[in-house]
Amino acid sequence: MPLVFIISAPSGSGKSTLVKRLIEIDDNLTFSTSVTTREPRKGDVEGESYEFITKEEFVQLRDCGKLLEWAEVFGNYYGTSQEVLVRAEQQQLDLILDIDVQGAAQLKERLPEAVTIFVLPPSRDELANRLRNRSSDSDAVRERRLKDAGQEVLNYEQYDYILINDQLDESLEQLRGIILAERCRQHRARSDIKTILKSFRDGDDTK
Ligand code: ADP
Ligand code: 5GP
Repeated sequence: MPLVFIISAPSGSGKSTLVKRLIEIDDNLTFSTSVTTREPRKGDVEGESYEFITKEEFVQLRDCGKLLEWAEVFGNYYGTSQEVLVRAEQQQLDLILDIDVQGAAQLKERLPEAVTIFVLPPSRDELANRLRNRSSDSDAVRERRLKDAGQEVLNYEQYDYILINDQLDESLEQLRGIILAERCRQHRARSDIKTILKSFRDGDDTK
């Protein structure tokens, strides 16, 4: 079973940027590409950022039980297909998902071992700047995202880790630190430990 990392944040906090950089430096991690009914944004790559599908296609996937979790966010549907977990398992890679708080709660119910990380911007003003600088959303969309952020930040308590994304390089280091530390947790290293202990038993000539 792959280690599953869930990352959530108010829109514009920088989580896609962080996850993209993390994937580039961690060969044992793969990104869960979601399906969505939202329109592609400037810079989105089909099949990489998302699989862009119609509402009818989404409803069909959902109603056939092919989604691990799904949610309606800012008037669009987003979901994680069951396939991404199967593929990560086959490839023996850990999986990182960028999903909203509703999806994170659903997934944590199904996969209680999943590690959750919440990204906060340093302030509301900085979030507004980042949304403006991203310049790929209309004014109305941007306003809605900023308004909803006030409620979203209150969900931080449900997450295992909080990452305040101020300086990007520092945040990336912290995120990488979380991933590495979680891989070292004793119960996850059990099969490796057994092999090492066995090598001591086998090599002990006093026994
Ligand atoms: P999200 O995925 O959380 O919606 P993005 O990754 O798209 O956010 O980031 C929103 C904008 O903020 C982008 O233009 C990105 O380049 C910028 N950004 C991300 N992290 C930082 C940071 N630490 N400092 C300044 N700008 C950042
Ligand atoms: P955006 O439109 O900015 O790419 O994403 C909007 C929100 O949808 C973000 O909070 C993002 O984490 C969330 N999101 C993206 N994919 C999924 C998904 O598969 N499931 C859920 N529940 N949320 C998602």
